[in-house]
Amino acid sequence: MTLTPLTLRHQHAPVARARLALLDRDGVLVENRDGYVRSHADVAILPGGLQGLERLAEAGVAVVVVTNQACIAKSIISRDQAIAVHEHVLDRLGAAGRTIVATYICPHRDEQRCACRKPAPGLVQAALADHPVALADAFLVGDAASDIAAASASGIRSYAVRTGRIGEAELAQMAGATTLADDLDAAVAAEFARAGPLRG
Ligand SMILES: [Mg+2]
Ligand SMILES: [Zn+2]
Repeated sequence: MTLTPLTLRHQHAPVARARLALLDRDGVLVENRDGYVRSHADVAILPGGLQGLERLAEAGVAVVVVTNQACIAKSIISRDQAIAVHEHVLDRLGAAGRTIVATYICPHRDEQRCACRKPAPGLVQAALADHPVALADAFLVGDAASDIAAASASGIRSYAVRTGRIGEAELAQMAGATTLADDLDAAVAAEFARAGPLRG
């Protein structure tokens, strides 16, 4: 049996297709929890996450979320509950949340050896297949080495934020493969400084 990501396509405001931002969720948009974000009460929006998303929305950049949620395979929460929690995250992000055009969830656990669980590139590649842009016009923001590895394996640049679980020592080790940023807002600012809000 082929293991595939769970893909959610969201109602959204019109966005430009010239640039694609791929965002990890937990540790980038919302706070990590011990274990998993498993209920509405666990959802705490990171201020810099919201600000970064607002910056992307203002620039008209299309955004997708790419998130590992092994809690589904582990039956910690059901697939339907995971979707409900994610929709709550999008609601809590307000108007900026409508710039998120799709969400790609790996519901599997390590032992299943799927192609989508980061650091494998499957989630990123599913997003790029649905939202084709030049690889130079896509970037990923994550808070774990697995996020950065998935971006590198897909040929896109990345930013590692300090709002998640990476300690400074691990961040320093990753500095050659990614760009370090304090939070999503700082990562988006760095991306725009590098390449402008939209190309062309
Ligand atoms: Mg994360
Ligand atoms: Zn998977």
